[in-house]
Amino acid sequence: MTPVVNKDVPRWTSITTKQAVFTFVIALALSIIAGLIELAEDARVLRDETREQTLRLISLVEGSAAEAAFQLNPDLANQVANGLFNGGNIRHLVLKDDFGRVMVEQGTTETENVGALLQRLFGDITDYRQTLLYNPGAGGEPQQVGEILMTLSVASIGHSYVERGLLIFSLGTIKALGIALLVVLTFHLLITRPLLRVYNAIAEVNPKQPGDWPRPELSIHRNDELGRLVNGLDNLMQAFQQGLDQRDELHQISTMDGLTGIANRRRFDEFVQQQWQHALRIQEPLAIIFIDIDYFKPYNDNYGHATGDETLRAVGRSLAEAMPRTTDMVARYGGEEFVCVLPHTDSEGASAVAEKLRERIQALGIPHAYSGVAQHITISMGVASTTPGKQGGIDDVSELLCLADSRLYLAKEQGRNRVVTTDRSVEPLD
Ligand code: GH3
Ligand code: MG
Ligand code: MG
Repeated sequence: MTPVVNKDVPRWTSITTKQAVFTFVIALALSIIAGLIELAEDARVLRDETREQTLRLISLVEGSAAEAAFQLNPDLANQVANGLFNGGNIRHLVLKDDFGRVMVEQGTTETENVGALLQRLFGDITDYRQTLLYNPGAGGEPQQVGEILMTLSVASIGHSYVERGLLIFSLGTIKALGIALLVVLTFHLLITRPLLRVYNAIAEVNPKQPGDWPRPELSIHRNDELGRLVNGLDNLMQAFQQGLDQRDELHQISTMDGLTGIANRRRFDEFVQQQWQHALRIQEPLAIIFIDIDYFKPYNDNYGHATGDETLRAVGRSLAEAMPRTTDMVARYGGEEFVCVLPHTDSEGASAVAEKLRERIQALGIPHAYSGVAQHITISMGVASTTPGKQGGIDDVSELLCLADSRLYLAKEQGRNRVVTTDRSVEPLD
């Protein structure tokens, strides 16, 4: 699997980080609540255990203690006391004989300095008193020979309680964090990761070509909500693409001349404005050639409108094919008039192009017996070029068009089938 890298969203504000933080915080809070409940329960268990253990301990030494009290044997009494002290959380221990005399005393009676909570939890299970009975045997009645008085240490019980509590807490927290980690991983693999793939795919959509978006393949989500989300997005992208294609088609139709198939007047107006602005920015010359077919009215009148249309098509095609650069444009300006836009072209270059066009149309050899200038179709052209914004030059695109147009009429005046590049000079005829 290739790792999904979220390019735009910083890692600490990413959905994965948020999800991990929230899950861990919730797991931690739950483990604390569960730990507190377990601690309360454990306090009850520890109280029972302590009581039971202490009573068991007393019952274990009871016999020896009674013997020591009966014999008034201080050594035995000491042994009993030591045994008790070693076996439990004892703070103070007194072994008395039947006359209430202390045989042995260990530990201290001083008040313990423990916290209020421990005192409250275990303070009431610390004191034990056990009467010692001695059984002389041979059917005699057991007789009281002394007693054991014992006080447990709350601090010592509390110490065990805190140790157990810490263990409960740590285990609970580890368990909760482990579960949280599993939840985060599962959630990440099942939801966040595929969602990030969808997000990245959307981020990579080319707005001009939404139909080609890198649709993510979410194999295990094919039939669930994520799969449907991707399907929905795909439908949306294809609909966008269709809309864009239709728009382009409409634009193409609206900017194309229906008869000749080359650009129409609308497209020309748009293009010449763009090229003017571009030329102004980069300070390069921009040239215009106006073209008009000579004696086309008599051609139409004599050969018929359909032949006229065919000839217009042939001329338009030939002019378009003759354009030297892809940045150049030829459009049908209206009727039997055409116009060329030549970016980065000065007067000299444009005049050379115009001359080539004139020769080309002449070379088509379309018969025109009613032309006043030749036996075939010819064209006249007016050429103008300028670097927009140049000192003393032309500072408006319409001015440039007017200039080219006026030179076209000059070409007509001067005999047709020619190119006029200046306002005075006359191009030589073939
Ligand atoms: P000039 O040499 O001075 O240009 O003379 P001309 O006869 O060509 O004069 P003008 O430019 O005024 O003639 C335009 C003619 O072009 C008028 C019409 O018969 C013809 N025409 C304009 N548009 C179309 C068209 O779409 N199809 C056809 N077949 N003819 C057209
Ligand atoms: Mg005309
Ligand atoms: Mg004409």
